Amino acid sequence: MAETTADRTRPDDDEPSVPDIDLPSDAFDAVLTALAGLDPGEDLRFEGFAVGVEPDGDDASATEATYRLDPAGDDPQTELSDRELHAALDERAPAVTDWYVFERVVGEFGPRRAFLRWIEDADGATVDARYAALAAGIERAWGELAITATVTDRGERRYDVRHADDAGVPVDELDTYEDPLDARELVTFDAKGRYRPLKTAPSLVGGWVFPDLGPRDAYEAVETIYPATVANWHREREGELDVNHWRETMERQSGIYGVVKTWDRGEGHEHVDWVAEACCDDSQCLKRREWEYDEETDLDVDGGDGVFPCREPCSVVVSAARKWTRLESERPRTYEFELTPSEKEQVEDIINAVADGRIDEIREADTKEGANRYRARFLRAKLFDDEGNLGGVPTEPDDEE
Ligand code: SF4
Repeated sequence: MAETTADRTRPDDDEPSVPDIDLPSDAFDAVLTALAGLDPGEDLRFEGFAVGVEPDGDDASATEATYRLDPAGDDPQTELSDRELHAALDERAPAVTDWYVFERVVGEFGPRRAFLRWIEDADGATVDARYAALAAGIERAWGELAITATVTDRGERRYDVRHADDAGVPVDELDTYEDPLDARELVTFDAKGRYRPLKTAPSLVGGWVFPDLGPRDAYEAVETIYPATVANWHREREGELDVNHWRETMERQSGIYGVVKTWDRGEGHEHVDWVAEACCDDSQCLKRREWEYDEETDLDVDGGDGVFPCREPCSVVVSAARKWTRLESERPRTYEFELTPSEKEQVEDIINAVADGRIDEIREADTKEGANRYRARFLRAKLFDDEGNLGGVPTEPDDEE
């Protein structure tokens, strides 16, 4: 899985320094609340130190709690008042605000928390290293998204979410959005205005940015643009990705989709290989295909390198496979065509250009390209009859004729 430091950006090679952080009152209040809820003798742990409430002892006159701060490898500070505790924590504001962000702002264990921690490598790097990197901006790739995490002088996380092609473009040159649900309108159509049936197709349009999202909204924006990708990525990390392979998925199809099952007629899985090669390749879908033919039988094509996994054949694949099943049920016949070697190459060029989505890149003047429009029109004029049929001759009679 692509992760860690490969897709991080830092402004230069100098060691970045930890920014000055002021301990905000909401983080300190959250610490006091958490301390009040601890069992006697229990500590609240931060990176590099722990804090606990001191027992009342026999001092009946004590009206306010006092605290104890235990730095790792150093003498403890005892009998700290609220004010003294605040001062001590303010000196350690990065560790305290880091705790506050993940324990209180981000909250419960699950995909959101894991994803936001992954962005800044919170389960690997120290708080100081992360805050220094966050001050410069930590950038992560997620499909075609570039997500940049930063930290404010109060230790809060802010996220810039945009298309990777717009990395480095000033915010005021892009359409800006605040509500993560606005992402729904960004994912519906591709750059040519065509509906995108597969939200993980690499056809996300750019030109927009969510420049200043909080942690929860950043997660929401990503899940709106690439639905369920974080959830499945998280399941996979936890070893809990429930994969539904081709065979079992097809067995569940009913009605018209049942026709797809006819491919399981003891012909091996080459049809399914072709489906996966056609639809699930990285050039067509950013998910990493984890489903295979069945539990015991892998497909013969690569699943891709995407960060997030695909756990079962999607509706786009099932629908396309249904069409192919009908087409593949036709009996092949042999035709005889006369093509020059260059014309045969040209037919191959045309198929490749269409399959790779390169037609729009081929210039009208570039007649070296087999898929050039003029060359294709010339070939059609030469080989097609008045009804638009390719003038081949069947070399064996049709059974029905
Ligand atoms: S089945 Fe293939 S095309 Fe569909 S989401 Fe999964 S990897 Fe992508």
